[in-house]
Amino acid sequence: MQHRPKLVVGNWKMNGDLASNAALVSAVVAGILDASAACEVAVCVPSPYLAQVSAALDGSAVVWGSQDVSEHERGAYTGEVSVAMLGEFGCRYAIVGHSERRTWFGDTNERVALKAGRAIAGGLVPIVCVGETLQEREQGRAMEIVATQLDAVLERIGMAGIGAAVLAYEPVWAIGTGKTATPDEAQAMHAAIRAHVAQRDAQVAAGLTILYGGSVKASNAASLFGRADIDGGLIGGASLVAEDFLGIVEAASRTVTQSVPT
Ligand code: PEP
Repeated sequence: MQHRPKLVVGNWKMNGDLASNAALVSAVVAGILDASAACEVAVCVPSPYLAQVSAALDGSAVVWGSQDVSEHERGAYTGEVSVAMLGEFGCRYAIVGHSERRTWFGDTNERVALKAGRAIAGGLVPIVCVGETLQEREQGRAMEIVATQLDAVLERIGMAGIGAAVLAYEPVWAIGTGKTATPDEAQAMHAAIRAHVAQRDAQVAAGLTILYGGSVKASNAASLFGRADIDGGLIGGASLVAEDFLGIVEAASRTVTQSVPT
């Protein structure tokens, strides 16, 4: 079994203010110093706070990312944030295709693929989110939906691109609902995603980081992250509370040396 490094990414969504961000970042940085995390840790922050958070994280082991990025390079795209702008602040990751963007802001599979390609071309690592709704799962179409989302990205960025990206499997029915996929359900989908990529390139598939997202908490993180194809988590609600987020980082660090086979 290949040992991939674990990655834990916080997605703050549209939460925070100057004072609470400062407190949260300093508690996370201090906690990670104490625990000497054996995994990579990132926080994806709202755009207005990127300067604040990049300055606060400077010199720490925690990196940061954006929650979205424009598919356009520059120009008359009111409200958009470009890859180059993020890069100037030392951004590492850009979440693309989060289900909230797909549902509320019209991000189609094709636009998500364009965003992923733009991020890679500009030196960012896209965290490409895929996942099915409850109805799609109940219809037995979960893998078909995820494969379609994935294929749109694979067609555009190719295997070199996917090798430079991170994937996040986030079942829509588990995001912010308190319902988590069981470790078996999550592992089965992660293994299927990896097998799907392996049909094109086994080596890229073996090295691919696939995060799980959907109501991850400190109490369920270890059982998810301990599974063979789950390489860490994309964390929403629990990333807003330092103690909860650090508990998840700690669980990920513990599982680095203790992966449970499929
Ligand atoms: C997310 O928004 O990516 C997410 C996984 O949210 P939560 O952890 O709150 O379910």
